[in-house]
Amino acid sequence: MEREIIVAKEAGFCAGVRRAVQLANDTLEKEPNKALCSLGPLIHNPSVIEALAKKGMSVLSSSLDEKAISELPNNAKLLVRAHGVSKEQYELLRGHKLDILDGTCPHVIAIRRIIERAANDNEPIVILGDKGHAEVTGLMSFAKEGTVVSSVEEAASLNFDKPFTVVCQSTLDSSTFEAVVKEIQKNYPSAKIHNTRCQATEKRQKEALSLCDACDAMVVIGGIGSANSNRLAEICKSSGKATFFVTDPANWEPDELKPYRRIGVTAGASTPQSDIDLIIGKLKDLI
Ligand code: SF4
Repeated sequence: MEREIIVAKEAGFCAGVRRAVQLANDTLEKEPNKALCSLGPLIHNPSVIEALAKKGMSVLSSSLDEKAISELPNNAKLLVRAHGVSKEQYELLRGHKLDILDGTCPHVIAIRRIIERAANDNEPIVILGDKGHAEVTGLMSFAKEGTVVSSVEEAASLNFDKPFTVVCQSTLDSSTFEAVVKEIQKNYPSAKIHNTRCQATEKRQKEALSLCDACDAMVVIGGIGSANSNRLAEICKSSGKATFFVTDPANWEPDELKPYRRIGVTAGASTPQSDIDLIIGKLKDLI
């Protein structure tokens, strides 16, 4: 069977991830005397983490306590990943006058500013997104009070007696955002809603859906711990098209794609081009 492989233009590293990885590589190259440590895995992709580890970067907990700080080497340089860290963590690190390299994505900083403005006005914050996700936890720490809402059901049970502001995790999908906002507006028509999904996410998810229309099957490449890659795979599945989520490109075999003629390929924001190229090569070799 003659196959066609269509690769999404928006597959792979977003600007925020590219910047964080570049910061790491530049530091490893230009400051070899520093012990570069990222606070949490820099990105959710094992091959990239492994490559950076080989160059000398180590991975610490995403939130250091006093004990962990006391055990840091004197030449430690701490890299904050694109998700950012909590307000308390910044204060603790700065209090110890540690050398910090801030890789927080500018888009995440823009969401943080909305939350800080609301906190100054004594307004609660609602963040639409995944409870426990590092970006969400970090953002929430800048609110005076607030809650995370992950579903329409949770939105229906909100109970506020004063004005509040709504933002969302940068990688939230548009259908969840719209459904949850609609529910909030039923009871709170004057809630201040900010659609803080980032452009990179918007374009990637839209393109994946149109690829689903054009293809017989979809391949989504991403780390197993990558929330945005998992969401991308869910979006493709929800279109009804056969979707294959590839989390280990080196060991993945494309045999299950044999019945399909037009195959779409996309990848999460933390997937390196080398993983995408590897999968394309395997699909091209499929007989
Ligand atoms: S997905 Fe968007 S907000 Fe998140 S790191 Fe990438 S560009 Fe920044």
